[in-house]
Amino acid sequence: MFPGERICFHIAAAWVVRKEGMRLAFIVKKFGGSSVATPAKIMAVARRVLEDTAADDRVVVVVSAMGDTTDELIALAKAVTGNPHGREMDMLLATGEQVTVALLAMAFTSLGRKAVSLTGFQAGIMTNGAHNKAKIAGIAPERVLRELDRGKIVIVAGFQGMTKSGDITTLGRGGSDTTAVALAGAMKADVCEIFTDVDGVYSADPRLVKTARRMREITYNEMLEMARLGAVVMQPRAVEMGKRHGVPIHVRSTFIQLPGTIIREGYTVEEREFIVRGVTHDTNVAKIAVLGVPDRPGVAYRIFSELAEANIDVDMIVQSIRNADKNINDIVFTIAKPDLPVARAIVDKLGQEMSFIGVIAEENVAKVSVVGAGMYGSPGIAAAMFGALGEAGINIEVISTSEISISCLISAEKVQDAVTAIHNRFFREDDDSNL
Ligand code: ADP
Ligand code: ASP
Ligand code: MG
Repeated sequence: MFPGERICFHIAAAWVVRKEGMRLAFIVKKFGGSSVATPAKIMAVARRVLEDTAADDRVVVVVSAMGDTTDELIALAKAVTGNPHGREMDMLLATGEQVTVALLAMAFTSLGRKAVSLTGFQAGIMTNGAHNKAKIAGIAPERVLRELDRGKIVIVAGFQGMTKSGDITTLGRGGSDTTAVALAGAMKADVCEIFTDVDGVYSADPRLVKTARRMREITYNEMLEMARLGAVVMQPRAVEMGKRHGVPIHVRSTFIQLPGTIIREGYTVEEREFIVRGVTHDTNVAKIAVLGVPDRPGVAYRIFSELAEANIDVDMIVQSIRNADKNINDIVFTIAKPDLPVARAIVDKLGQEMSFIGVIAEENVAKVSVVGAGMYGSPGIAAAMFGALGEAGINIEVISTSEISISCLISAEKVQDAVTAIHNRFFREDDDSNL
């Protein structure tokens, strides 16, 4: 590797470096499920990787399961039992990625390039024991580095790791992004390229909002918030990893040879903050309303600590005074949909102990959010968002805010109308000041 190469990543687009006739040293490339959905697509990925890289580049390719394999495996488990054990679920789900790595290695070999496939464990990805949403605890990439030294392209199964005690884990939906960025960070790769079925990060999901705009760059913090609030193009933990290790992430199309969006610490194009960067939606949400909770210290603690012990992330929380005379409150909170059965069981159990008046669980909800680092201290943003929803006749059930986002819980049926109305409010066609 040439000593000067790393600085080429001022803007971390591999193609920019290539155009200048320089060589990229070390790249991690991740291809998502739709990019490897068929044998023909797997061959196309192999060809694309070879086209994009020089013979002596060090290339690690992380892949997801083919097409909808993960969904199909989940359906298979559900067909056997309504309540599959987390460990066995991970044993099952991890098979999806293992199919793709083997096929892609065969594809490279058939094109005359040495390649080797590795499971998450073989690539040194160690996790904690939180089955189905495990966190990476450490990476020991020696085997990957050894195979690279032998001149091979190394293909790693995304989404999976192993606990200290040798059990297979998975990293949560979209977890191959995290495998890729974490490996790039651990091995000090120059860039992590996320190849997918869209050509970058947009101001809203381009499948929902036709007028959404592609961004050239976005900061880790804004992308993290967009991902956390539903922009599935990146798994939030992957963005966190990128930020922690300072790895530039390039989100780009598998099918088009053009640069996409660079996720990095700050903006290179213009030194300014954008007020609203994007509008996101998340339909993987459920709401629990706990009615008639005794108004005394420690009750909320009991509810939320038991949920935390069950590894359930609680998102929006609202407590309202129902009836001051009777000293009871209502508490409403949201969680990810798959956590609903366990959360509901916990709250029902506490309800019997503490005599709640009732518990209502609702799955037919969605969260819409606006995100932008520049919105802090701009009170008009909330008003504009609520106004857009009001004009579209959409009722807001719960509101929550962070320094760089505002979220509203609405009925799931209204999600497309809501995202479109909010996007139209902040991104007018004749005005590109938010780009
Ligand atoms: P992969 O299988 O490659 O990991 P994903 O389905 O996980 O792909 O992520 C890509 C999808 O993310 C796109 O098809 C798009 O519909 C969705 N998406 C949601 N929000 C955004 C956004 N703001 N910008 C780009 N894509 C988005
Ligand atoms: N195959 C896994 C999923 O569908 C992981 C991934 O695609 O990133 O969630
Ligand atoms: Mg994904």
